[in-house]
Amino acid sequence: MWFQEAKRIFILPAGKIQWWLLSEVKEHVQDVFGKETVIAEEMPLPAAVLNRDRGQIHSTGLIEAIAERGYNGMVLGMIDFDLYVPGLNFVFGEADPAEGVAVVSIARLREEFYGREPDQDLLLQRTLKEAIHEMGHLYSLKHCPDPVCVMHFSNSITETDRKSKEFCSVCIRIMKNL
Ligand SMILES: [Zn+2]
Ligand SMILES: [Zn+2]
Repeated sequence: MWFQEAKRIFILPAGKIQWWLLSEVKEHVQDVFGKETVIAEEMPLPAAVLNRDRGQIHSTGLIEAIAERGYNGMVLGMIDFDLYVPGLNFVFGEADPAEGVAVVSIARLREEFYGREPDQDLLLQRTLKEAIHEMGHLYSLKHCPDPVCVMHFSNSITETDRKSKEFCSVCIRIMKNL
């Protein structure tokens, strides 16, 4: 894919996201994938992909809206708004390897969402896991059966917490053979 050869990865805030979180994601993505990573200028929340009945944003629509902006590299959109795809109640994120665009929502990564006390470190760890997971899809990785591999699919926050932010040895080998 052309974007795997591109020089940059863009971390794109879609709407407001705390700066410290963006900058931690940028540093970590740069370390893991070894490519210059920059925080792009915030894009407005695209109202067209907001489903008012569900109070959620259609993540595939968000990916398309980002792809249309024409970044010259891979893009990881970050949003502080709940995402869904038809057929699922919600998604933590989604990736489109054909477009080189992925998105991650932090809405359900906060302890507050589950009625618990805020925990900034837990929010950071969860955000890094989901960010690396979606970026992994852009590098053509599929879901991994290993429950601690970052490419394991999480359907709940418990599964996100169980997995690590590292690739297992099988996933690393697949990435290296690209
Ligand atoms: Zn996935
Ligand atoms: Zn794996």
